[in-house]
Amino acid sequence: MLRQCINNRRKGYRTSRTGIEVKPVVSKTIVLKTLEHLNDSVNSNEITSLTKKASSVLIQLYIPETNPEWAMAIESILREQFPEAVIVGGSSMGGIAHGEIDVDAAVVAITFFDQTQVKGLIVDGAEATPADLGNTLQATINKTCQDVAGVMLLATTSNMDVAEFLTGFSNSPNTYPVFGGGTGDVTSIDEPLVFLDNQCLTSGVVAVVFMGTQIRIEAHTYLGWQALSKEMVVTEKDGLWVKKIDDKPAFEVYQHYLGIENDENFFFNAIEFPFLIKRNGIEYAKSPSEVNAENAIKFFADIKEGEAFRIGYGNPRVMIEQARAIQNRIDNFNPESIFLFSCVCRRFLLHDDINLETKPFEKIAPTFGFYTFGEIYGCADSVHILNSTMVAISMKEGLKSRERIIRDVETSLLDKPDPLANKHSRSISRLVNFIQAVTEELEETNEEARRLAERDYLTQAYNRVKVNEFMENEMKRSHRYGRKFSILILDMDLFKKVNDVHGHNVGDAVLSQLVRIIDREIRDSDILSRWGGEEFLVVMPETVINGAIVMAERIRKAVEQADFPQVFNQTCSLGVTTFRLGEHIEETIDRADRALYEAKRKGRNCVVAS
Ligand code: GH3
Ligand code: MG
Ligand code: MG
Repeated sequence: MLRQCINNRRKGYRTSRTGIEVKPVVSKTIVLKTLEHLNDSVNSNEITSLTKKASSVLIQLYIPETNPEWAMAIESILREQFPEAVIVGGSSMGGIAHGEIDVDAAVVAITFFDQTQVKGLIVDGAEATPADLGNTLQATINKTCQDVAGVMLLATTSNMDVAEFLTGFSNSPNTYPVFGGGTGDVTSIDEPLVFLDNQCLTSGVVAVVFMGTQIRIEAHTYLGWQALSKEMVVTEKDGLWVKKIDDKPAFEVYQHYLGIENDENFFFNAIEFPFLIKRNGIEYAKSPSEVNAENAIKFFADIKEGEAFRIGYGNPRVMIEQARAIQNRIDNFNPESIFLFSCVCRRFLLHDDINLETKPFEKIAPTFGFYTFGEIYGCADSVHILNSTMVAISMKEGLKSRERIIRDVETSLLDKPDPLANKHSRSISRLVNFIQAVTEELEETNEEARRLAERDYLTQAYNRVKVNEFMENEMKRSHRYGRKFSILILDMDLFKKVNDVHGHNVGDAVLSQLVRIIDREIRDSDILSRWGGEEFLVVMPETVINGAIVMAERIRKAVEQADFPQVFNQTCSLGVTTFRLGEHIEETIDRADRALYEAKRKGRNCVVAS
């Protein structure tokens, strides 16, 4: 049994669903305004007795400002009462106590474990590269900890590359959950604080390892942010800085679409509008933290060059819906304690409705946590730094399923017939919907326009403009990376006769069928274009002459064997060549053309390479 020590003035009775009375779990989170208040709260008989019985005690302390003296003063008071406890924490953009936000008090959450051990580890961000630090921390855990059931990480995300750290950390063969958040408060984003016992750092990571065979930890995350803008591509970056987007200075995106200025308020203006990037079908938000004089933008989390993204915004309706879905799953798990790591931008977005998201967790189990700069989530072998999300951790001890506890929680907030009665959230949801719908419509129109501009109307093969553009790009790649590419030109044999005998419409149908035949033979990366009349040009990237000849021969055979309506048999001739470094693309095309002419001269229905 894991107990959450929370300063609870509410009635503590619980009955199981079977009606049998269960021993009330003592639950308290101390919301701390002054130090005197803390002394009163922790020096009770009840707490002394819980401490005596516990296998270990974890104390989390989230303070609303970067104030190491205050943190350490609290720590030393707690240390007297809990000499063996692991005391961790950091500065935060708001604590969560009893499932509700508290922005200007410290939140002290004490967790008493019955059978589990916890161990604290601290890593100084100044001592090595982030990846090495992550690696070392994982190695230390592997070497010194047994029966690891989960690891909590608190990190100074704004002045350390935590994505790199987590890459280094993700070298474990284990798959226990890893979770946590980035620290930092509203006035000192650049000076976040993490601490373990009496050690304070403004750059580093604190880890808490949960060990034991009886503890069960479940981790969930959800986003609720939706893509609004058109798709854009990161074209240049340097470390955490994105320099160019679609080959223009990165900041122009925020200026153009959102009217955000390049000034000291950039972070607060832009944080609610992260980049949304899809990786393996999952959408990740990446929040900007800074803009510089060169109009580059710095991000908390990793973004790769060449990655496509859209600007996103939170949809309160979706957030609340997703929260309810996760709360149902957590309710089934029936935990004894819930930790929340929620992105600060959720606070900005939901304003007065913020507790609608977090309070229902408290109905399931004592809930606390803090508003973060970046959320940490994953398994030991693959941990990520997320943005804009909620990471919810539920824990319980004991392998057998526990009696379900009905918690006596103030529910007036939750029982409103329309949880979005507040107009602010409702209007945002509608606007997000509206922009999304408009963007989709525009993209469909653009897609159609692009198709029309790139394709030949009759055959739907690419047109000459598009294939020229493609060949120019291949030529550049050849010069830069030494990549070989080949082309072939195909011309129908004695096609005039088809028109003369069967009419122009039948000729058209043959050309359309021909394109379908060639399309089946070439690779996805090859480009098929209508070069003119009944002539077609295929570009084959990453292909040397032998490969190109094989391809041309395959196409020739396929055409020869095809059954064209009315015309029946029809053959074609092909000229093949490879681009030579230093030449202009016209020279390559000329060579293919001459090869084609040679194929015709040799009697048609054959391939000539040059
Ligand atoms: P060769 O084997 O020497 O290539 O003989 P050919 O008859 O195919 O000669 P050429 O390539 O010079 O003639 C091309 C013919 O293709 C002329 C034109 O009537 C026909 N053609 C060009 N474009 C189209 C089209 O869009 N539809 C139809 N039906 N015919 C076309
Ligand atoms: Mg011809
Ligand atoms: Mg021709």
